[in-house]
Formats: sequence, C-alpha cells, structure tokens
Amino acid sequence: MKQFFKKKALNIIIPALCMFLSFLSGCTGKQAEPSKRTDTAMGTIVSQTVYVTEQGEAELTEEIMSLIRNLEENMLSWRLPTSEIYQVNTRAARGEEGISLSGELYQIIGTCLTLSAASEGAFDISLGKVIRLWNIDEWSQNGETGYKLPAQEDISEALSHRGSDDVSLQGNSLYLPAGVQLDLGAVGKGIALQRILDYLEEQPDKPRGAVISVGGSVLTYGEKPDGDSWRVGILNPFDTSENLGYLSLTGQWCISTSGDYERFVEVDGIRYHHIIDPATGYPAQSGVSSVTVLTKDGLLSDALSTACFVLGVEKGSRLAEEFDAEVLFVDKSGEMHMSKGMEEYFHLSK
Ligand code: AMP
Ligand code: MG
Repeated sequence: MKQFFKKKALNIIIPALCMFLSFLSGCTGKQAEPSKRTDTAMGTIVSQTVYVTEQGEAELTEEIMSLIRNLEENMLSWRLPTSEIYQVNTRAARGEEGISLSGELYQIIGTCLTLSAASEGAFDISLGKVIRLWNIDEWSQNGETGYKLPAQEDISEALSHRGSDDVSLQGNSLYLPAGVQLDLGAVGKGIALQRILDYLEEQPDKPRGAVISVGGSVLTYGEKPDGDSWRVGILNPFDTSENLGYLSLTGQWCISTSGDYERFVEVDGIRYHHIIDPATGYPAQSGVSSVTVLTKDGLLSDALSTACFVLGVEKGSRLAEEFDAEVLFVDKSGEMHMSKGMEEYFHLSK
C-alpha cells in the first residue's frame, strides 16, 4: 500500500473541500491572453480558460459548451425525456428486460459496474430511487430551509431497489432488476471532461493549453504559453471562500473533488449532504469532508472521488491505489491525508 502522511492544515479549521482554478501570475509580456468564459450547464458552473495561437477561441469554447449540453440532453439527464438514461429508466420501470444501449453508454456503465465491484458497492449507479427520494438535485448550492427529511420506511423501500451486483451487460443490452433506476450524477462531470479532452485532441489546430472545470471536476490540457505549470486550487471545505492549497500540474490531468459542502440541506441543526452511503441510504458518515482524486481519466477521477468519500480515508486510499490514482482527503477534524504521489503536486496556500 502506498504511504500516506498526515499534515495539520495551516490556519483555521478545515472541513469540506472543493476546487477552483487559479492561474499563475507574473507571466511574460509576450504571453498570449487566454480566452475565458463562464457558463452554467449540468446544474453547475462551467469555467474555461483556453490558450490558442490563432483566431477561433470563441468558437472553441462555444463548441465545448454545446458538447456539455448535448451530453446532458442526449445521454445523462435523469429528468429530460430526450436522454438515453431517462429512456433506460422509463423502460426499466415498465419491466422491460434487455434494454439496448448506445456503444458509449454501454462502455460507461461497464466501467461504473467495475468501480462498484472494486469499491464493494460504495459507488453505486443504481441508487436512482434513493437519490430521487432525497431530492438532491433540487437542493440549492447553499443549503436549503424548510426541507422535510424522507421517512425511514421510504428509504428502506428505495434501498431495496438498488444494487449494482444485480445489474448486468450482455450483448449490447443492459439488464436491470425490477424497480431499479440509474443515476449517473457521480460521474457526469468526469464524462464531460473526457469528451472535452477527445474533442480538443481531434482539433486540426489544437489549442496550446486549456483548463476547463465542470463543477468540482477539472481538466488540464497542454501547457501555458509561458511554460509555467497549471494551478488547480483546492477549496477549504470548512470555508469555501478560500483555498486550502493547490495542485501544481503540467500537461493533461483530470481532477475531481467530492465534498459535503457542495450540496446539502440542514434540518434541526444537522447537515445532510448529497453523497449517499448505499449501505444505509443516508448521507455517508465516513469522517471525511472532502476528497480530491487526480488521474488521467475523467470518468475514473469522478467515480473515485465519490467512492472514496463514502469509504473514508483507509479503504478509500486502498481503492485509489488500485486504480493508480492520487488522492487527498480532508477529514472532519481538518487533517489532510494524501497519497505519496499527491504530495509531489499539492502545495498549501500561503
Ligand atoms: P459527486 O459530487 O461527484 O461525488 O457525485 C454526487 C452525486 O452522485 C449525487 O448528487 C448523486 O446524484 C450521486 N450519488 C450520491 N451518492 C452516490 C453513491 N454512493 N454512488 C454513486 N452515485 C452517488
Ligand atoms: Mg464524483
């Protein structure tokens, strides 16, 4: 097992983590100005910084936004009738067996099932019913008031209709047990990063460098014109107005963070967040406030960050290592735990 070390976070107390982008200042005067834009899609903020040598950056960032929106509308949304997942869930609810899938969704679900098995069910795309019951997608980013908790018996009932172990792929088709509904919320942003990466790679005139974030998932690509590294900020989960530190990276990476501050509701002084422990049907209580995973693959980083949050530091570290991913946990007491490899990239904010 990889060596982990603990570091008391500087300043203040630290709980939930996230990430945002910041770029090195002090560039040379000759450096091309990047094209920057911020939009919303997939229920979150999309921010792009792209360095191109030629005209056309506006079209590139526009194309990337269409690509993200198409992905949501045509494949991932559980609420838009146009999406493949919506259609899969509708057909499963009718009791249909053997639902044929597009090649891409087939592969995505296959990878998700592998991750479910490797995480012993901590990551589970068949949690759709439980997630709908909590109504997570309706929660605002800043917490909710007047929210009514789901009843225990409803949670138990919804939990009885989940379990990736019983979901299977054969031929081109998906087999779901009766009553199971899929939810790809834990990997949507990572899948978007993967599609963006493919798109950038396909460009005859590739941008020199880009940093694109879709919510808590970030893609770094290429290089900065001044040769400096990318800085990907890691939010302080206890005070998201500031960074805990940053990752200093060169070239292509995918970085995903799952944190209990990203979506939550408060009821009677108790905070309920959006990452569900499939064993209980309630928000995971693994002693972790945030987890950041660094890999080359978007889907993997996103799935692992959710899985590691549910599993906690020890089991989560083992899972990340199994997939050659670097990981950084911030626990509830503000202590950081990171893989040896992550130590090379992470720097505390001054
Ligand atoms: P993330 O912010 O990437 O960790 O993903 C959280 C989202 O994934 C939630 O809003 C749910 O839609 C979904 N989700 C929650 N818990 C799980 C879980 N244990 N396994 C898979 N998906 C989950
Ligand atoms: Mg995730």
